[in-house]
Amino acid sequence: MTSQPIQVVADLHTHTTCSDGVLSPIELITKAEQRGLQALAITDHDNLDAHRHLRDVGYNGPLRLISGVEISCYDFGREIHVLAYNVDVDNANLQQYEAFYRNDRARRAEEMVANLHQARAPISYQEVIDEAAGAPIGRPHVASVLVRRGFVQSIQAAFDVYLDVGKPGYAAKTPFPVAQAVEMIHAAGGTLSIAHPGRYFTDPAMFLPLVKTGVDGIEVYHPSHWHVTREFYRVMCQQHGLLVTGGSDFHGSRDYDEANFGTFGLTAAGFEEFASTIASRHASVPKHD
Ligand code: AMP
Ligand code: MN
Ligand code: MN
Ligand code: MN
Repeated sequence: MTSQPIQVVADLHTHTTCSDGVLSPIELITKAEQRGLQALAITDHDNLDAHRHLRDVGYNGPLRLISGVEISCYDFGREIHVLAYNVDVDNANLQQYEAFYRNDRARRAEEMVANLHQARAPISYQEVIDEAAGAPIGRPHVASVLVRRGFVQSIQAAFDVYLDVGKPGYAAKTPFPVAQAVEMIHAAGGTLSIAHPGRYFTDPAMFLPLVKTGVDGIEVYHPSHWHVTREFYRVMCQQHGLLVTGGSDFHGSRDYDEANFGTFGLTAAGFEEFASTIASRHASVPKHD
């Protein structure tokens, strides 16, 4: 982990109970206000439910909210997450993608439950559904059930023993290419940034094809990036004319979440550039009625 002696005003990567976070959208907003943030993007996995909910309840507090979603892509031989910002939450194509992932995650959870039975950790699919409480099902929900049922002592152990890629309980999502996410999000007026790139490729030659998919930015500031990693991606942004984004990836379920929230994100100057870029991208999309 690295710390930044600078004033972060915007967190552009967070999760709520609408995916695998523990705070509701309103609870997270309250927390962000208390931390003195000026802007927040909720970026749940594969859905925009938090944003439709907030629109319906009519939040009008001081925080600038930016619509967002963390898209689970599979490309270049591995899972790759792409953050999308400032999208139209009623966009029909996006809603189709959300429904696709909700179904695909349910299918995959059933597969993981079957795998876990084989691995002598017989939890039921219904327990996993209950744990997700209406959110699209993710591995953390499965992990929580494994802990509660006493098959492992911690969420981390559930991943280490059963749920990480290559472990006996793991099942993959249906592949979704990055280029498809780029096309979908640009058509919805949004802007894309590669989430936590340090998790994927340390070799620049491997990273360039990902940059060339047409994404608009890179998440430079993320708790998983060390100084050198961060500087590498910052230079990549300069060289390729890409937007710098950043966030804490707050879930509220890990012991380090608390310290990271309000620490990782963009400064006032960085956020100004981000805000003007997402606005001009949005304005450049032709409107249809
Ligand atoms: P999924 O999208 O269902 O594959 O679940 C991925 C999510 O699981 C990530 O967004 C993290 O929140 C969480 N996760 C992934 N790896 C681990 C791990 N080793 N320990 C704890 N949580 C993890
Ligand atoms: Mn997550
Ligand atoms: Mn991610
Ligand atoms: Mn995330």
